[in-house]
Amino acid sequence: MNFEERNEIHAKEYGELTDAELMAMLEDRHMPTVIPPCRVCGEPLDIGACGGGKPTVWACSPLEEDPDAPGTLRLKSGRDRAEGSGGHYSESRITDGRHADPYVMELVRRYGEVTT
Ligand SMILES: [Zn+2]
Repeated sequence: MNFEERNEIHAKEYGELTDAELMAMLEDRHMPTVIPPCRVCGEPLDIGACGGGKPTVWACSPLEEDPDAPGTLRLKSGRDRAEGSGGHYSESRITDGRHADPYVMELVRRYGEVTT
């Protein structure tokens, strides 16, 4: 769903929504977010912070598993353990405030089967 479609739906009272609009809104809100790769280096992002009812923060970790010492971490080449603001880590940060909910998605899927 794009920005305009979402705005159009938000402008309506709940009771005015068509079933299709309501389902589209639920799907848009509750499907799992696809986390893009790091915008600095293109590597997959790691979870930087989560829990406590706050949105999940993803970021490009400066650490990686050390292949010479399994179970331990080493600094990635070219990275700094204390990357400050403006560094690779903070540049790569994204916040995912959505609430992916597989129960809602299953309900949307079953409803779609019943009504189509
Ligand atoms: Zn990166």
